[in-house]
Amino acid sequence: MIKITIAKGDGIGPEIMNATLEILFAAGAQIETDEIEIGEKVYLSGNTSGISKEAWEVVTRNKVFLKAPITTPQGGGYKSLNVSTRKFLGLYANVRPCVSMHPFISTKHPVMDLVIIRENEEDLYAGIEHQQTDEVVQCLKLISRPGCEKIVRYAFEYAKHYGRKKVTCFTKDNIMKQTDGLFHKVFDEIASEYPEIIKEHWIVDIGAAKIADTPEDFDVIVMPNLYGDILSDVAAQITGSVGLAGSSNIGETCAMFEAIHGSAPTIANQNVANPSGLLQGAVMMLNHIGQTTIAEKIQNAWLKTIEDGIHTADIFKEGISKQKVGTKEFANAVINNLGQKPTILKTVDYSNSSVLNLPSYKRKPKAQKTLEGVDVFVHWSGTDPNELAEKIKGIELEHVKLSMITNRGIKVWPEGFKETFCTDHWRCRFKSDAGFDFNQKHIIELLSNALSQNIDTIKTENLYSFDGKSAYSLGQGQ
Ligand code: NAD
Repeated sequence: MIKITIAKGDGIGPEIMNATLEILFAAGAQIETDEIEIGEKVYLSGNTSGISKEAWEVVTRNKVFLKAPITTPQGGGYKSLNVSTRKFLGLYANVRPCVSMHPFISTKHPVMDLVIIRENEEDLYAGIEHQQTDEVVQCLKLISRPGCEKIVRYAFEYAKHYGRKKVTCFTKDNIMKQTDGLFHKVFDEIASEYPEIIKEHWIVDIGAAKIADTPEDFDVIVMPNLYGDILSDVAAQITGSVGLAGSSNIGETCAMFEAIHGSAPTIANQNVANPSGLLQGAVMMLNHIGQTTIAEKIQNAWLKTIEDGIHTADIFKEGISKQKVGTKEFANAVINNLGQKPTILKTVDYSNSSVLNLPSYKRKPKAQKTLEGVDVFVHWSGTDPNELAEKIKGIELEHVKLSMITNRGIKVWPEGFKETFCTDHWRCRFKSDAGFDFNQKHIIELLSNALSQNIDTIKTENLYSFDGKSAYSLGQGQ
């Protein structure tokens, strides 16, 4: 008997959790549930994290968490509990299989069977945002080498373990050469350790278009957090409904299982929601805790139910479906089918399912890091970059000179275009003369000069080279 934490969540959460648990127990799952309260009620009681300290203790003690969707109240400083859970528990890999069930569920893509493996802890989801000027806000996109290595290795190990042939990587490294560039570079490095698996890379925009058009071309797709979030909804939806897909969130010690969809408040308490997404999450959970025979029994019964045409409203289609049922009736149909297998859809065999054991990340030797300059960001309400350049030149040091000014990344000085629209947020790049021992004291001097000349500096970013290679973006047009 394994103790798992469950949370019924908000909106359709309680209905789909009850339906899922009924199926699990009817199938003989060897689990005991420890229920915690999370979500809207907790948020609205004044706890901006959506979960109490006591509930966290239950989650970390049991290590396996089956979670229904929750509603995150808009605004008000409420932090997404989904994101916090993934990050606090180190659940770095989000696995989202999306499979068509043609001809039993209406879809434009009858032969789709792909798995999206989404990085789960970093990227823009670090949630580090600041307003810096009247006109400009920023969100930091953080990508780390350990983050990339862990998720890319997970994708290849997953492909190897489940006999998948190809791993595709999506990034936007033609634009974000440092962040997405690192993800792509690590993908290439790790792919070379798996010569038996085909590897390919697509720029995310055309890759997304290809998922929507020819998803059958894909097998396993690994991507940074935000792209993975968006594209797994797309992929699930084009199999027939976002209500069909489940996901696992895997870490080194803990794991969380859920549906990929949200709490769907507009259809809550009507017994119409499809419990399949959460059920798929629960099947992944049973495989994770080694109860593969039960997982297999449930999955085959579920496939048989889909094949029988017993469908909830989101997938019901005249001419294809046989019977429109509610959440509870769907669960009962799955329970009645326990022990049966589908006849046309592929029967599942989970005898090979097990937890993937990946090596822990090993920190690389430190590179030779050299400070080459500094970007000083300035809040200035003027419009003529030449005028700003004149002011900024006034804070230069003997061996540290202004080399460029950009506005929203585009070079506006020297030799900008008069057509370029400028906001009040300016990046002023200072480079040190070759051979000059530039260090943080010089940055303080620059800032001190700016202060004495009433220049409103809002932040700095150091310009480093690592092992002799400059590691910062150029200005667009530079
Ligand atoms: P949603 O996924 O809840 O709903 C999108 C659409 O899909 C709606 O039309 C909904 O009715 C339908 N749908 C979703 N699940 C369904 C199911 N099981 N059966 C039938 N139809 C289903 O997305 P949303 O409306 O953008 O978000 C609603 C709330 O959910 C928000 O508060 C959001 O923050 C939250 N959310 C939570 C999670 C999570 O807990 N993991 C994930 C995404 C969104």
